[in-house]
Amino acid sequence: MAKIIDGKQISKEVRAEIAAECAALKEKGIVPGLAVIIVGTDPASQVYVRNKKKACEEVGFHSEVYELPEETTEAELLALVERLNGDSAIHGILVQLPLPKHLDDKIIIDHIDPEKDVDAFHPVNVGKIMIGDYDFLPCTPAGVMVLLEKSGVDVSGKECVVVGRSNIVGKPQAMLLLHANGTVTVCHSRTKNLAEVTRRADILVAAVGKADFITGDMVKEGAVVIDVGMNRRADGKLTGDVDFATVEPKVSLITPVPGGVGPMTITMLLRNTLTSAKRHAGVL
Ligand code: NDP
Repeated sequence: MAKIIDGKQISKEVRAEIAAECAALKEKGIVPGLAVIIVGTDPASQVYVRNKKKACEEVGFHSEVYELPEETTEAELLALVERLNGDSAIHGILVQLPLPKHLDDKIIIDHIDPEKDVDAFHPVNVGKIMIGDYDFLPCTPAGVMVLLEKSGVDVSGKECVVVGRSNIVGKPQAMLLLHANGTVTVCHSRTKNLAEVTRRADILVAAVGKADFITGDMVKEGAVVIDVGMNRRADGKLTGDVDFATVEPKVSLITPVPGGVGPMTITMLLRNTLTSAKRHAGVL
């Protein structure tokens, strides 16, 4: 029987620490501020944005949500980003992705001031992660590292296997595990004999985007399994990339979906915004 890593509880603890730091900053006249921009009416994105605003309010941050119509032009969006870059009440700017097809994610993200890029998607921040000299970490992989740390998992010297190599999860996750002195292998759709590789893992991170993809025969006895996947079943239920029923009995620690990595992502966004506010105020 595996121990379940309770992402909700860990997230609650970290948010309480952030709220306490925010209260202390307020006494110095500093209020961390996050601006979230959403273009169009994608229902999933609208839910994410609402959750981010609520999370900001709960820890005492100032938050601004900009809901722009689907037909917003690149020039209009860039003008808003530029205005927020220069707004001293805003320490974090997040553009909710995906953007409508006529807008290029890359061009928009490149215009966010790297010092306010709390998603850590700007090339400057991506580069800093590579060399291990970072202010912001991408939220989901950073959340995974906190879950490991708070669960007493020492990554140093461990065989770590990341399944998935996206720019927002797989690649930065591999880099963070490497910085923590893990021996890291990254797998993807062209990996041969995937199960042979995943069975070597002391720590397995699944970021594939396919429901129940990692099955019991693909994991080592006693491994730590982190499920980043968020997939919707036909009945609307959220499910991960790991087949919990066959994997859980074999491993020592596992994150559930929901209630594992998911809650940590917004928590790390709050932490990045707090870090940015402290840097801007010169108290970091
Ligand atoms: P992407 O679709 O961008 O990447 C998926 C990766 O999985 C790719 O690198 C792909 O390989 C790899 N892959 C696909 N099929 C296979 C296969 N058969 N064998 C091995 N590897 C395979 O997804 P994301 O990284 O953006 O997201 C991954 C999952 O995490 C999704 O379910 C997403 O919803 C979830 N997610 C959850 C978050 C959270 O807060 N919990 C936040 C962000 C994402 P290749 O590169 O070769 O195509």
